[in-house]
Amino acid sequence: MLKRYLNLIDGKLRTALSGRELDVRCPSDGLPFAKIPASSAMDINAAVKAARAAVDDGEWSHLSAVGRGRLLTKLGDLVLDNLDDLTSIEAMDTGKPMREAEQDIRMTARYFEFYGGSADKIGGETLPYFNMFNAQVLREPHGVTGHIIPWNYPSQIFARTLAPALAMGNAVVLKPAEQACLTPIQLAVLAREAGFPKGSINVVSGTGAMAGAALARHRGIDFLSFTGSPKTGASVAAAAARNRIACSLELGGKSPQIVFEDARKEEYLHILVQGVIQNAGQTCSAGSRVLVQESMFGEVLDGLASRFEALTAGPHDEDPDLGALISNVQKKRVLRYLNLPDRPHLVAQGNVSPSAPAGGHYVRPTLFGPASEHSRLSQEEIFGPVLVCTSFKDERDAVRIANGTEYGLVAGIWTRDGDRQMRVAKALHCGQVFINSYGAGGGVELPFGGVGKSGHGREKGMAALHTFSRLKTVVHHHGL
Ligand code: ADP
Repeated sequence: MLKRYLNLIDGKLRTALSGRELDVRCPSDGLPFAKIPASSAMDINAAVKAARAAVDDGEWSHLSAVGRGRLLTKLGDLVLDNLDDLTSIEAMDTGKPMREAEQDIRMTARYFEFYGGSADKIGGETLPYFNMFNAQVLREPHGVTGHIIPWNYPSQIFARTLAPALAMGNAVVLKPAEQACLTPIQLAVLAREAGFPKGSINVVSGTGAMAGAALARHRGIDFLSFTGSPKTGASVAAAAARNRIACSLELGGKSPQIVFEDARKEEYLHILVQGVIQNAGQTCSAGSRVLVQESMFGEVLDGLASRFEALTAGPHDEDPDLGALISNVQKKRVLRYLNLPDRPHLVAQGNVSPSAPAGGHYVRPTLFGPASEHSRLSQEEIFGPVLVCTSFKDERDAVRIANGTEYGLVAGIWTRDGDRQMRVAKALHCGQVFINSYGAGGGVELPFGGVGKSGHGREKGMAALHTFSRLKTVVHHHGL
């Protein structure tokens, strides 16, 4: 008997109105273990209606910022109380190793804690204007916000996008990814337990083509937040444009880690590997390109090769170096890249654990180099455990190659030269730069988002509170 998960709409747990369901499969063995509602436009419609009622005159709309903050903080505490349960669900649903799933749940709690604390610390301003006037700028919620999230970090991205929206007083409708959506559904149940009023949080599962598209085009949505692929992001943005609403898009990347010859090898080698194998490379901010100064290229490639050969992909409950990929579709996509006829030299590959079930979607972590900066492996987001190394001559060359893709999300710079650190950080086209470190994931405090094909808009940090609110100018003529 497969466990059934339900939508949360208007404070009630519900099946899809059509009664249809989808199987949820575990990536580690490919077997179904749960069922979720296969929702349609009718369910999305009910959720948007409930959110509208909550934000217009429902209990939610009458809560103060302090009240909203307290609910978010309480939800963060409940997440930690349920750490073990949520960790096992997340690991089983995504195939990621248990320790990574646990980190994700802890980070999820941290989002609720951070935005719980910030809800009452952001406001508008008054402006100097003519003496007989008072001019003020109010910061208000958009109203009903729509959120479409991917399968790679279901719990974290749920919290990343919902917590600031709720802190600002929006009512939310979220559509998680059909491949992995159990923690978002569980988190919605915990939110109800924390006391979030009916209609403030609505979570509706289903496919992208049915439920996702219905949410993106719904006329009752005031702002859309999307995290996923550039292709789907473009269709979501087009739907937003048709309804004349704004959206934020977080669409992935081809993030470079730039290693200068003066950097300390003992500090960066491990992080270069972790930066791309975390979540089996299925991370938008993965450091999937390594650019190395030519004098050090051979030495760095050798160091990476021995580390790659020691890696093992395996079932989530064995807590391996990396887990299976999310689906067979994703595995095939990655294998196509590994087998491109004009691929660069394959330097090293890790292993798949002998205990890995045959039905799991495992891919051996793979290192390529030297790769031309123009090769497809250097230009395209693979979303798998694949690292591509390219050499550069000097600082100018490094910046040119780093900026030479359509993406711009995150970058890492490894050098001890302080002037160079700042020059390069300023010259890079992207949303986040790490110097002598790399932070794929985490960093609740740090504004995050991209340029170019990586998308636009900022989430995380206090910046997200701006994303999920809008300004209204009120000019009051009070006379002399
Ligand atoms: P992937 O190709 O890796 O699955 P997507 O960008 O398609 O990435 O998926 C991210 C999220 O967007 C998921 O929740 C998915 O269901 C949803 N989605 C997919 N297609 C559409 C669409 N046409 N409109 C709205 N949402 C969609």
